[in-house]
Amino acid sequence: MHKKLFIPGPVEVRSDVLEKMATPMIGHRSKDASQLQRNISDKLRQLFYTENHILLSTTSGSGLMEGAVRSCTLKRAAIFSVGAFGNRWFEMARSNNVPADIFEVEWGQATSPEQVEQALSSGKYDLMTITHNETSTGIMNPVEEIAQVVKKYPEVVFCMDAVSSAGGSKIEVDKLEIDICITSTQKALGLPPGLAICTFSEKARERAQQVPYRGYYLDLLQLYKYIMEKDYQYPSTPSLSHMFALDYQLDRILEEGLDNRFRRHIEMAELVRDWARRHFALFADERYLSNTLTTISNTRDIDVGALNRELGQRGFQISNGYGKMKEKTFRIAHMADCQLEDIKELLDNIDDILM
Ligand SMILES: *Cc1c(COP(=O)(O)O)cnc(C)c1O
Repeated sequence: MHKKLFIPGPVEVRSDVLEKMATPMIGHRSKDASQLQRNISDKLRQLFYTENHILLSTTSGSGLMEGAVRSCTLKRAAIFSVGAFGNRWFEMARSNNVPADIFEVEWGQATSPEQVEQALSSGKYDLMTITHNETSTGIMNPVEEIAQVVKKYPEVVFCMDAVSSAGGSKIEVDKLEIDICITSTQKALGLPPGLAICTFSEKARERAQQVPYRGYYLDLLQLYKYIMEKDYQYPSTPSLSHMFALDYQLDRILEEGLDNRFRRHIEMAELVRDWARRHFALFADERYLSNTLTTISNTRDIDVGALNRELGQRGFQISNGYGKMKEKTFRIAHMADCQLEDIKELLDNIDDILM
């Protein structure tokens, strides 16, 4: 039996979207391939509220995170981390020999504008990374306020991991002056895993031109050049299947309306939060709760594995805690094409099993 996924990626994918993955192939150097990538880029610009270029990478989101920190750091990167995915970005910098410092908080807390101000005012950094929505802890960082601080430091390339929020929560790239905003297909966009997406500003491009060793496959400047000089092509063979499905799904997303979609995510989040407060407790700081997933403290010490097995027999799957929080928390994702009724059905089943 198929289990309906309420895990923070990969998410449940609509069957009409899945079917688009089976579209017959076209040549990746054809005019049709260029047109496909151009259409996708135009629609993604709406989703990200930007006029910047859109880069696609046939990797998961991690590919463009690694590419960004390597391609665009000349001096030193400031990595702000509120959990597992922030830490991952620091590991990526280190393993690429990119000088970097990490600025952490206790898990469950958010990065503060003051913390960012303090780090950037040292003048040591020319790139910074922030996690918009930390999927391990369920924190959504106050990026609007943080962006106000970053604007004071024009030498800093502003990179944002929006892997688990883009498409489910409003991110105004141009207003916030984000240089590289990254996501992947298998989370709030509601597609199968395998393609990463980012916005790419003029400032990011200028920086990359100064960086001598950007790697090859994840070189953001190379991805950009193929769009500009070869009319929306990709340096190697991209996952055309994902591109067909993405092109189609973006139409569905824009048809729903971005504001409607973001509101639906907030409504789903509120349902899960209310339920969690009644029966357990929220792990993350109440002021900065994620709209796309909820991390719940396992205050009743339930056996999450056993709960998930029971749920599995009923056709649902939730997620245990991430890494070191495996037993202490569990997570319910409410993103992509998931509806309020789906969440209610899931919570009713959990209640039925536990209470
Ligand atoms: C899932 C996730 C990633 C990793 O993305 P992949 O597509 O699995 O490489 C990075 N950051 C956040 C916040 C995520 O949720």
